[in-house]
Amino acid sequence: MPSIKENLELVRENIANAALKYGRKADDVKLLAVSKTFPASDVAEAFACGQTLFGENRVQELELKAPLLPSEIRWHLIGHLQSNKAKKAALSACTIHSVDSEKLIEKLSKTVLEAGLALDIMLEVNVTDEDSKSGLRSESDILRLAEIAIATKGIRLTGLMTMAELDATEKRLRETFSMVRTLRDKIEREFSITIPELSMGMSSDYEQAIAEGSTIVRIGTAIFGGRDYTI
Ligand SMILES: *Cc1c(COP(=O)(O)O)cnc(C)c1O
Repeated sequence: MPSIKENLELVRENIANAALKYGRKADDVKLLAVSKTFPASDVAEAFACGQTLFGENRVQELELKAPLLPSEIRWHLIGHLQSNKAKKAALSACTIHSVDSEKLIEKLSKTVLEAGLALDIMLEVNVTDEDSKSGLRSESDILRLAEIAIATKGIRLTGLMTMAELDATEKRLRETFSMVRTLRDKIEREFSITIPELSMGMSSDYEQAIAEGSTIVRIGTAIFGGRDYTI
């Protein structure tokens, strides 16, 4: 089995090649290593290879892992977040990719203002309208929540996040990611602000996401291997 180091090198190379292929700079695409279900020792191994951005999808797991690891690590929360966990999330992550309600925005803002922290957030969008997935579906909901996020103190709306369908064709993946980019452009125009990030692309579809403008790819399996959810 290849090591985490070898996997990381391969993923970085693939990201750079995809960026080049689609006329972008390799530096414009950040790699978020998704370490959910993997032990702190695996994170430490990736960190030793220069990886500093890590993603977890549950607050509880993040709270257990982060104290065991170097403070230089930047933790992003990428999984669906209930508003009753907002406080813990805001205190343990620097960026939350999965914001999808006004209530959550309010709670995150309250927490960071009280704690004197700053928090970057992204809105999770479900442009393929799948029931199995969380995230905002209609354009009007997305624009409404973007407006609220922009006006809320303590938090900064930096991007949109999406997950594509699992069994999508290459064409469908490109369409999905392109819809998210178009939405981002629309928010930028509508509210005259810059929304720099598009969090799109996972182990199986990051090339297509990079082709459509992704700035953060969230990669778990291709770095750490298959996950065992039974532990
Ligand atoms: C687990 C997860 C990923 C990583 O998925 P892989 O297919 O293992 O690369 C990316 N994004 C989210 C939201 C996840 O929950």
